[in-house]
Amino acid sequence: VGPFDPQDPDFQYLAVDRKKMLKEQTQPFDGKKMCWVPDEKEGFVGAEIQSSKGDEITVKTIEKQENRTVKKDDIQQMNPPKFEKIEDMANMTYLNEASVLHNLRSRYYLGMIYTYSGLFCVAINPYRRLPIYTESIIAKYRGKRRMEMPPHLFSIADNAYQFMVQDRENQSMLITGESGAGKTESTKKVIQYFARVAANIYRESQKRGHDGGPGESGAGKTENTKKVIQYFAHVAASLQKKSGDVEEKKDTKKGNLEDQIIQANPVLEAFGNAKTVRNNNSSRFGKFIRIHFGPTGKIAGADIETYLLEKSRVTFQQPAERDYHIFYQLLSGGLKDIKERLLCECDPALFSFINQGALTVEGIDDVEEMRITDEAFDILGFTQEEKNSMYKCTGAILHMGEMKFKQRPREEQAEADGTAEAERVAFLLGVNAGDLLKALLKPKIKVGTEVVTQGRNKDQVVYSVGALAKSIYDRMFKWLVMRVNKTLDTKAKRNYYIGVLDIAGFEIFDFNSFEQLCINYTNERLQQFFNHHMFILEQEEYKKEGIQWEFIDFGMDLQACIDLIEKPMGILSILEEECMFPKANDNTFKEKLYANHMGKSPNFGKPGKASKPGLPAPHFELHHYAGSVPYNIGGWLEKNKDPINETVVELLSHSKEHLVQTLFASHDDPADSGGHKKKKKSASFQTISALHRESLNKLMKNLYSTHPHFVRCIIPNEFKQPGVIDAALVLNQLQCNGVLEGIRICRKGFPSRVIYSEFKQRYSILAPNAIPQGFADGKVVTEKILLALQLDPAEYRLGNTKVFFKAGVLGMLEEMRDERL
Ligand code: ADP
Ligand code: MG
Repeated sequence: VGPFDPQDPDFQYLAVDRKKMLKEQTQPFDGKKMCWVPDEKEGFVGAEIQSSKGDEITVKTIEKQENRTVKKDDIQQMNPPKFEKIEDMANMTYLNEASVLHNLRSRYYLGMIYTYSGLFCVAINPYRRLPIYTESIIAKYRGKRRMEMPPHLFSIADNAYQFMVQDRENQSMLITGESGAGKTESTKKVIQYFARVAANIYRESQKRGHDGGPGESGAGKTENTKKVIQYFAHVAASLQKKSGDVEEKKDTKKGNLEDQIIQANPVLEAFGNAKTVRNNNSSRFGKFIRIHFGPTGKIAGADIETYLLEKSRVTFQQPAERDYHIFYQLLSGGLKDIKERLLCECDPALFSFINQGALTVEGIDDVEEMRITDEAFDILGFTQEEKNSMYKCTGAILHMGEMKFKQRPREEQAEADGTAEAERVAFLLGVNAGDLLKALLKPKIKVGTEVVTQGRNKDQVVYSVGALAKSIYDRMFKWLVMRVNKTLDTKAKRNYYIGVLDIAGFEIFDFNSFEQLCINYTNERLQQFFNHHMFILEQEEYKKEGIQWEFIDFGMDLQACIDLIEKPMGILSILEEECMFPKANDNTFKEKLYANHMGKSPNFGKPGKASKPGLPAPHFELHHYAGSVPYNIGGWLEKNKDPINETVVELLSHSKEHLVQTLFASHDDPADSGGHKKKKKSASFQTISALHRESLNKLMKNLYSTHPHFVRCIIPNEFKQPGVIDAALVLNQLQCNGVLEGIRICRKGFPSRVIYSEFKQRYSILAPNAIPQGFADGKVVTEKILLALQLDPAEYRLGNTKVFFKAGVLGMLEEMRDERL
């Protein structure tokens, strides 16, 4: 591997010293005898074949020297030792689950958390702070090609940046994985990398400003200088415009754009992350952050799109879990006068919306986090009033959980059981307490052309208070994102963007509901995107290079399942239709689903029993690419309609609090007011699934216009322990995240390519006698070398500008080259 020095301490956790490793491999290796056998605990263990009888094979395991008899089909081939801890698993000779697991595991044990697998970068959560994100390491990865350096997230990020500049094309990084796998940490690292690199490039271009920029080929020096000057003038002007704002002028805390992009994170995390069993800082929403770059390669702005915030958490938590961090941060007492501002005691135990699980999190200091959140708001240019409004809304939600109601004797009508809490809520939300109670207890509804008041019993009122709390929180979160976007939207010229997607991977739980369908549907589309990228684009490359290659579209494998979910009369359409139908219920929904799909759609299956005793039985099974998932449809209509008391909405839309008014303004969806002129259907008429599909379609459209880079995060164990690999857990993820499938299909093509001139330079040494004297064309030389080596023609193709190889061939050539040197 390339120009890095394996002795360099910076690479201690990134690379093996391959030369040294090979020297130390003194054990003879007999490829015919060595193999992997399944093992309950380790997934697979190495073994030596002793004897075979029919389908049964007797082996001796290497480590424990145990004799075992296994089925022939359960044995997997072992790669020769030179492939130990290999950087790109696509180059392994034997590509199987056992070898992939072994490779990832043995690298992970040495602290090497990144490994390539063809188009994927696999990252295993280290659960410890590794010194692999330092300035010095950033500098070493800057501008290098992927092949030249040990696997690293920075390499992927830097490559995206290089491709953007060279190809003048938008880029995307798709980071997926289970909860706790390290997606959000990776996203943060990537964004920090871009902020750092782009700032350096900016500085470089500033230095070079007088003798020509780092510009485009062909552009003259003066032309570049002019551009740079224009650019500075532009940036300066836009900065001036912004600080011209009276309010912002006073604000000295505001940060520069790079800081602001980075500081968007603590704010989003305070409101969108929570402690779960899996992850102490689990993001309960998906996000797509686009960083826009200007003509000089400097960051010119950014925007964030979010997906499906988990609303139920606002009012409900499992044991050992928490509500969103912001609640506990506010009640930590970390802010001045918060008790007076929120009208409450600073003790989360007192509030029933947020005290159902844990109250504190190991390793999280809510006082400190509150300070960080508040400061991030400042850096992002939020005004004191904006901050205050958000804190007050959050406080109002806390108090809503304490509102008490009782049933009137012999009546289907509830009434307030004490009004002190309602008064606090109303004060914080900027409305009249009497009006609020009336709207909750006796909402107005339209019957035909008439408006009548409707009585509500206690359960209904308690339910609508919960729904209101969730709705306020959800709208506030969307507004927050929109407000952050306003800050990150500088008027500087934008050329191309790099988008980073941080979204939950495929989920198969013991109990799967509507939320799982939404996320699995999303992943189905993302996997199809991956396949599309791999095949359609590969295909184009082969065509461009004039290479013969059979077309196999693995993307189509996913179409049937996607259609079943999203097409007219598909699962979501039926659900949405039922949501519009007043008399529909879970049962009618189920019947429609069965009538349309049971026995008719191959991906729609009969459900089995509940996967654990005590859980409700599933209603149907979907055959996703990653596996079959049993879904239970209980409550889907309600979840998807997400109804909210319209009388309260009307009341809040006239709140004295500017923020509350904005959140509930009827004419525009707060999430969409970021510059879109087009008037949309009011959010209250659209179901969750329809909105999600819309934003997913938008995401996919964006992604399809980019050059994608795929990062797959893996959680190593369920105990947040460093250095521990739970083999079954890891294998399951490799299946679900497409890594195993990806390698399999990648090997069907010609994944390695080398430009002729490079091939000639690097590999002429392999067949010096075959090289013509004097000048010779790279392609001619390449062909001569390959013929001289008697390489199987099925192993390579000669394109117009480069030579293509099957996986593993280049590794072999490299080895031959090493022997010669
Ligand atoms: P996800 O977003 O996939 O649910 P996170 O990115 O929040 O997971 O990671 C969960 C936790 O794992 C983090 O809070 C952190 O403690 C740890 N972690 C993840 N990635 C890294 C990393 N690269 N280095 C150190 N710790 C990490
Ligand atoms: Mg996350």
